[in-house]
Amino acid sequence: MLDINLMDAQLKQKQEELETRAKKLSDELMHVNEEISKDSEDRAQQLENEEVAEEIAEQTQQELQQVKHAILRIKQGEYTRCELCEEEIEQDRLMALPYVSLCVQCASDG
Ligand SMILES: [Zn+2]
Repeated sequence: MLDINLMDAQLKQKQEELETRAKKLSDELMHVNEEISKDSEDRAQQLENEEVAEEIAEQTQQELQQVKHAILRIKQGEYTRCELCEEEIEQDRLMALPYVSLCVQCASDG
């Protein structure tokens, strides 16, 4: 049996982690921007690091959106319902991936 309260607690914890990470990443990005070196080699490396950091920051934001969306779905009592076909999402799937919003069929249909 899927424990919605437990999923809710897990998702909220995940949200906190992601928010902390997102803040840290944006601080780092700001720091990189301030410290761009005049040395061209250093600068190339810094820009590369910045690109990687930006990519991670973007992924973190996307994950955060998914987690927030899942928390909202719990509030609305729609957590176990697939957003496409409106069938129940498999409990094992939700336990493994707490912020999925599609059942396995819809997810694999793309
Ligand atoms: Zn579905």
